[in-house]
Amino acid sequence: MKTIKFTLFVIVVLLISTTPILAAERWLESYKKVLVIGAHPDDPETMCGGTMIKLREMGAEVVSVYFTSGEAGIPGKTHEESSNIRTAEAKRACEVMGVRAIFMTQIDGNTEVNKARYAEMKALIEAEKPDMVITHWPIDSHRDHRICSILVYDAWRQTGYNFDLYYGEVMTGLQTQTFAPNHWVNITKQHDQKVKAYYCHESQDMPVVQEWHDAMEILRGMECHGKYGEAFVKQQWTEE
Ligand SMILES: [Zn+2]
Repeated sequence: MKTIKFTLFVIVVLLISTTPILAAERWLESYKKVLVIGAHPDDPETMCGGTMIKLREMGAEVVSVYFTSGEAGIPGKTHEESSNIRTAEAKRACEVMGVRAIFMTQIDGNTEVNKARYAEMKALIEAEKPDMVITHWPIDSHRDHRICSILVYDAWRQTGYNFDLYYGEVMTGLQTQTFAPNHWVNITKQHDQKVKAYYCHESQDMPVVQEWHDAMEILRGMECHGKYGEAFVKQQWTEE
């Protein structure tokens, strides 16, 4: 009898101690296949690396999609040299997060919106069959972020809204503007691994990125009762 009482006590304590975390992120639990589509190497990692790691821990398949290969991202290097360096860095970051990487064919600083590019984004999403896609907020200050976002948005419409679409934030105040999230993820346990992942981008000024992102993630953590958080805007669509 004593053993049964003790077992019940342990179960109750476990339930009480884990319920707030589970309840806060029940919205994540249904997703099994997630694409994170960022404009440049380091965007998926900084935007939502904690959520990517957490989703993978919850059993989802997570893919990091790089819209460009960062061709214009290293001063003094040719496009080809930059692309090679930044592709290798992104692959290492994906290894740290335990996710797969896909590289699209747009060019950093010269991204395009036309019929062929709409079709390319739609084809990628149809081939991968995600139930959740995270991409940039459509009015980021960086042109490549905006173009990436509207191509994803268009694919969402053209595929009949058959996945849930979320927007994330990067360097809010500098790159993401007027962002008012409606979904949060507590990434306190994943924060160190996220930082380790984005520091794989050695060609970029990651200490500066970390200053911006730590401040953001502390703010989003406060909003979801954690030390560090990430936040998203879900794109809504309701049939009449
Ligand atoms: Zn970017």
